[in-house]
Amino acid sequence: MDQIRIENLELFCNHGAKPEENVLGQKFYVSATLHLDTRKAGLTDDLAASAHYGKVSRRIKAVMENNTYQLIERCAEVLARTILLEFPSVQGIDLEVKKPWAPIGLPVEYVSVCVHRRWHTVYLSIGSNMGDRRGYLDLAVERLSGMEEVRVTKKSDYIVTKPYGNVEQEDFLNGCLELRTLLSPHELLAALHEIEAMAGRERKIRWGPRTLDLDILLYDDRILDSKTLTIPHREMHLRRFVLEPLSSIAPYAVHPLYHCSVQELWERLQAGETGENTVEKGK
Ligand code: ATP
Ligand code: CA
Ligand code: CA
Repeated sequence: MDQIRIENLELFCNHGAKPEENVLGQKFYVSATLHLDTRKAGLTDDLAASAHYGKVSRRIKAVMENNTYQLIERCAEVLARTILLEFPSVQGIDLEVKKPWAPIGLPVEYVSVCVHRRWHTVYLSIGSNMGDRRGYLDLAVERLSGMEEVRVTKKSDYIVTKPYGNVEQEDFLNGCLELRTLLSPHELLAALHEIEAMAGRERKIRWGPRTLDLDILLYDDRILDSKTLTIPHREMHLRRFVLEPLSSIAPYAVHPLYHCSVQELWERLQAGETGENTVEKGK
């Protein structure tokens, strides 16, 4: 991806963990590399197709001067987030905050914090089989769209499906969403749990009836397996209620472990090569 660089923007501000730093102030330098596609601006000579580095620099100055933070980690985090939220053409940012007069009592040129932040593409499976099923799915979309750090970019149709596992229960209404988000995988999971709780979800039986179930299927091409989160979702490739709606919005998304497209996974499932019968039920 192309880059626009802002190098060592000099500012005088009050950040620091020591009280005197918050009163006296000191010099800071901020550098930013904006990741974006400059091709269109390059061909048309139109600033509207790029990111205005003057405006970005002024936003950096305003955020740095109008706040007092203890840590340069905090400065970097807030600056990166602000630029990504306010400049839509910017897909990612490397941001460095330097503190040349850091009061550490040693002759150092500067100390600095560098962060890389960017928009991520995520696919979610959403499902409900209790009460106003459509209402709960719509609520999930509405809540996600209302979050500053999340944009819902695609939504599949909802399909009716038979429940998974051995528990006797109502049919499900299922769908998939594409999101763009600044949240990390675990932050996104926490946000999904909050939305499930808002919909009155109770966690009693695994694969039991629920008002709302929100699962992360894919997060960029990330592979992750922690105690509370596995990405890609462990069973996405085995489930019709996932692959049918997902293939309608993201046929060419690639499963990073199987190295094949969602469309291919869906075709294999339909052909009976993979499927729910091949996995252990009722874990
Ligand atoms: P399944 O995960 O097989 O679809 P489920 O959705 O019914 O089953 P839940 O009771 O909703 O299971 O979730 C149990 C836990 O699974 C969650 O609390 C979460 O920590 C964990 N989990 C692991 N990977 C994921 C993921 N990719 N998306 C959502 N939750 C996940
Ligand atoms: Ca689930
Ligand atoms: Ca779940």
